[in-house]
Amino acid sequence: MSICDNISVSKEGHLLFAGQDVVTLAEQYGTPLYIMDEDKIRESCRVYQAAFKKHFGGNSRPLYASKANSFKRIYEIMSEEGMGIDVVSSGEMYTAILAGYDLSHAYFHSNNKTDADIAYGMDNHIGYFVADNVEEIKAIEAEAGRRGIRQKVLLRLTPGIDPHTYEAVATGKVDSKFGSAIETGQAEEITAFTLQQPHVELMGFHCHVGSQVFAEDVFERAAQLMLEFCADMKKKYGYVAQQLDLGGGYGVRYVETDPYLDVDKKVGEVAAAIQKTCDSLDFPMPEIHMEPGRSIVAAAGMTLYTCGTVKRIPGYKNYVSIDGGMPDNPRYALYKSNYTCLVANKMNEEKTLEVSVVGRCCESGDIIQQGVMVTDTVGRGDTIAVCTTGAYNYSMASNYNRLPRPPIVMLRGGSESYVAVRRETLEDLCRNDL
Ligand SMILES: *Cc1c(COP(=O)(O)O)cnc(C)c1O
Repeated sequence: MSICDNISVSKEGHLLFAGQDVVTLAEQYGTPLYIMDEDKIRESCRVYQAAFKKHFGGNSRPLYASKANSFKRIYEIMSEEGMGIDVVSSGEMYTAILAGYDLSHAYFHSNNKTDADIAYGMDNHIGYFVADNVEEIKAIEAEAGRRGIRQKVLLRLTPGIDPHTYEAVATGKVDSKFGSAIETGQAEEITAFTLQQPHVELMGFHCHVGSQVFAEDVFERAAQLMLEFCADMKKKYGYVAQQLDLGGGYGVRYVETDPYLDVDKKVGEVAAAIQKTCDSLDFPMPEIHMEPGRSIVAAAGMTLYTCGTVKRIPGYKNYVSIDGGMPDNPRYALYKSNYTCLVANKMNEEKTLEVSVVGRCCESGDIIQQGVMVTDTVGRGDTIAVCTTGAYNYSMASNYNRLPRPPIVMLRGGSESYVAVRRETLEDLCRNDL
């Protein structure tokens, strides 16, 4: 009935999230407002960890891809849950450090790490760099050499897989801007080059084929291609990869028609396929990592807005305007992402009006969702909830039109709430203006 099990409706027709009345939360903290279900975040971490323990064992582990949602509190939670993390910038590293996260469990991604990023990572003893290309290996080798250290690295490869997700989030194809392709020989080239460097230690290989993936065997196919490559490198260079990192990408339910994904079952299937491939290649099973981002935090988040103008253009279209929009959620504008929008204080009313839910920015593309069915009584002052916004909303937020970014309020234990990120003020907006 609901798109996620932490969503329900009260007797008086109010939307409940993590057991709490969102209309009350909107009144208490103001809108726009990000709310996050801390218990759900922890539960998702535990589901992944239990699945990894059961199906892979050893040192295999899930790493939270923190670009999905990066703020101090989330790194504290990851630390408490014993999760590894991915970071993609000095900013994410800095945030994790402030939270007391031990960066020796962190993997530094990105297709273009600056020299400053590389130095900052080494200053802070980051565990692993995931190098994208030969140039980057050269830069890491040079910095490690200056410091007289041996830096652990993984190499990001492109296995050449189309994960049947939408174009903007598909990253595993040969012509992607990410990684070195197996097909073109660049993967072998970077491997051979890396093995010759005195100040980098090659730990293994990484790939990430895309996001919002539901298709049956994407990870199995990626693992097979990667393991074949590993076996080839063993044969040619005597190099045995210790780690294989299959990236992130498991899908979440944005709308009713999205399927459910059983993480334990999926991880089990991937593990079985990997075991089989390793056996047939006579290659020792490496430590396996995966990097879920969206599937750890998306369903743990919701955004609350206050409805302003409702515009009816007879014979054409209806608009519900909210007090946020593309600055706090650019995903429809970026790639037409689906979302479920609800009138949170009128959940028991029949939905007879089709509307576009639009933001308040000076931009026609400032849309959260089109073709949304709502109650005909929707109007100024109603609370509009957008579900499944815990990933790639706050982390992609901007101050376009000089709108202050919303706060993040964490919910736990069915009744408790607290501010993890405070609301930006007008002064914050001008803090750097000289
Ligand atoms: C974005 C990304 C992830 C996380 O993807 P999700 O779809 O959020 O699970 C993991 N690894 C890499 C390298 C990424 O770029």
